[in-house]
Amino acid sequence: MPGSHYQVPSSKFHHSTYSLTDSSENGPEDEEADGSPRLTPLQKLTTSMCKDENTIKELIIGRRVGFYKVRGEIGCGTFSRVKLAFHALTKDKVALKILDKTRLDSQAQRLLSREISSMEVLRHPNVVCLYEVVEMPSRLYLVLEYAGGGDLHNRICNEGKLSDNASKITFAQILSAIKYMHSINVIHRDLKAENVLFTSCGCVKVADFGFSTQIPNRNDALDTFCGSPPYAAPELFKDECYQGPPVDVWAMGVLLFFMVTGTMPFRAETMGKLRRCIIDAAYTVPPWVPGPCQRLIKGILKTSPADRYAVDQMLGCDWLLPVEFPWSLVPSEPTSSLQSLIDSEPWGLEEEEEEVRSSLEELGITEEHLRNNQLKDSRSPITGVYRILLHQAQKRRGCDSPPVVRGMVRDPKREGLRAYRGLRHTSKLCVLS
Ligand code: ATP
Repeated sequence: MPGSHYQVPSSKFHHSTYSLTDSSENGPEDEEADGSPRLTPLQKLTTSMCKDENTIKELIIGRRVGFYKVRGEIGCGTFSRVKLAFHALTKDKVALKILDKTRLDSQAQRLLSREISSMEVLRHPNVVCLYEVVEMPSRLYLVLEYAGGGDLHNRICNEGKLSDNASKITFAQILSAIKYMHSINVIHRDLKAENVLFTSCGCVKVADFGFSTQIPNRNDALDTFCGSPPYAAPELFKDECYQGPPVDVWAMGVLLFFMVTGTMPFRAETMGKLRRCIIDAAYTVPPWVPGPCQRLIKGILKTSPADRYAVDQMLGCDWLLPVEFPWSLVPSEPTSSLQSLIDSEPWGLEEEEEEVRSSLEELGITEEHLRNNQLKDSRSPITGVYRILLHQAQKRRGCDSPPVVRGMVRDPKREGLRAYRGLRHTSKLCVLS
């Protein structure tokens, strides 16, 4: 079939990853009025992808990619375009990162495969979720959770520095994401305000894992200079090996400075001068920044990685003490898997998984489809639907609600954060540590 690899040999469909029926027979109650078999949403979709002229045309011209209907443009990166898309079955909005494979040199290909492999292991409310990877002969599509609230860089450039409370709420979420990443030995290496996205309800989503790396041991030495110079730690300018976690911590210090002051701590007209400023840690925190926040910045922006705050010290700092996360943010085990849906009897499933299983059934995705699906493989539309439904269920439980600051008078407009609805159960930030 042109434009995709969804193939249905005849109107009698048999099992494959995209099989349209399972082995059950159709009874009379499974028939449409005209006597034709009643199709599940999945069957209708795959049939139209194979037989409906308009759908096939859309697949050819890129208005559809796999199970996704492509809509407006979101933005462009060095090697990619990002478009808004909708899942044809679940109707969820997603961000479709489109890469032209013919334009990627070997280094860009390496970075891309790192991006994918890092994102495949990451499941955290403050990290953009990778739902699926769709590969076509000349293009690769990363289907990502959509963060519709813009990025931190634009927010500060357009609206100025964040208030103290909004800074706490934003920074606490970045910290929670970084603590989680480091706990599974993933180093981001490109933390910057442009890569901190917001959902429409103010939840932070750390994005862009193109420079990330997963290392066997957290403190293994790294040697590739990555990231954006204004956020780069001093050791990166010294042509030495460096450890990953302190490099992310330094970038968080620069981010924090940017959030609370609206300016960058290290600025210079030339790269040489910028390098000098950073190596000397030559910055000044304005006196009006609250004392506890100043102390945090100074604890982070230390030239020697050994003296620099560790993530746990940041979590325990005075400035963040009043921050409370919704209880459901605490990710003890990051992910439930498709495997658990297959292996467990319905009564053995967590409430969330049960919800996902019944939504999958409603769409026509049977246990047989799940078994045929290569488990945890992002390159499968079944995985895509599963991850989207799981995320939906987690959102219903409040996992995408931003934290609150105890005692804060809620003024969503002033804070630039709109999601204080439905926060009843909260736990202190330190629970995440
Ligand atoms: P580069 O790849 O050169 O570092 P970049 O990070 O801006 O650039 P992309 O990650 O491709 O490149 O992002 C392009 C644009 O799409 C950016 O404006 C970014 O904010 C937006 N974007 C990326 N991912 C998402 C997402 N999941 N939800 C919403 N917008 C996104």
